[in-house]
Amino acid sequence: MDALLKNCTLCPVECGANRLAGVGACGVSSLRIAKYYLHPFEEPCISHKNGSGTIFFSGCNLRCVFCQNYEVSRAKRGKEITPDALADIFKELEDMGAENISLVTPSHLTPYLIRAFELYKPKIPVVYNTGSYEKVDTLKRIDPFVDIYLPDMKFYSPVLSKRYLGKENYFDIASEAIAFMANAKPLIMTNEGKMLSGCVVRHLVMPLCTGDSKALIKWFNAYLPPSSYLSLMSQYTPFGDIEGYKELSRPVTAREYDGVVQTALDLGLENRLFLQERKSSGEQYIPTWDF
Ligand code: SF4
Repeated sequence: MDALLKNCTLCPVECGANRLAGVGACGVSSLRIAKYYLHPFEEPCISHKNGSGTIFFSGCNLRCVFCQNYEVSRAKRGKEITPDALADIFKELEDMGAENISLVTPSHLTPYLIRAFELYKPKIPVVYNTGSYEKVDTLKRIDPFVDIYLPDMKFYSPVLSKRYLGKENYFDIASEAIAFMANAKPLIMTNEGKMLSGCVVRHLVMPLCTGDSKALIKWFNAYLPPSSYLSLMSQYTPFGDIEGYKELSRPVTAREYDGVVQTALDLGLENRLFLQERKSSGEQYIPTWDF
């Protein structure tokens, strides 16, 4: 583990930080978490009846100006824990009745996560929830411990991804990572609609970006296997570091969201689609950081 962290190239940023001595461009050196709880508002196949046992990790290799978890992704919140303590949290969430263990923004912490899984492999499915700016080699390391992939598919256009994420090559990197994730696991769903294995690709519809959303949906339809699902999210809430981004100062309109959904329906994706009610937008849905 130390060798991986000493000259870190775990993610496509490849900043080469010595994380045994300091932080990388993702903002953290070691394992830090900001919250864990039973999350009731994920897709129905993920939250199901009791909620998803969600663990929010500090730091991120993206710089989304609109990040809904801004304080955590910028590593301003979170406490350092050991892999042993994380393994205990897996057990605690299981005991609470969690439907699964969901790791939110985990890629920059994979060596620590693998250590925790070696100490305790949960009996419930493990969900890998990522912004998708990932190296396939790093995904392959953690893949034996993952049952469900929940990758974001953020922007198609390099102009938009540079403006909003700080990464001009986002789609080139993310499309390869998402293709890996969508093909990695067989689709297994219980008769009650709980996912045990598979992939749900998420896309957050953004104000004035519907053309980009439609390009992503066409890519999803053309390149990902029929076993993968698409979750179209309407919950964008103006938040984060959006001063100077006037176009992001409002939620998406019904017309914008419905137009994006119609593209998916026109492509025949109705049986592979999760939709969100527009009332899901609002700061009340943003978690508080209490760990
Ligand atoms: S995971 Fe963090 S430290 Fe490692 S290359 Fe990416 S940004 Fe740098």
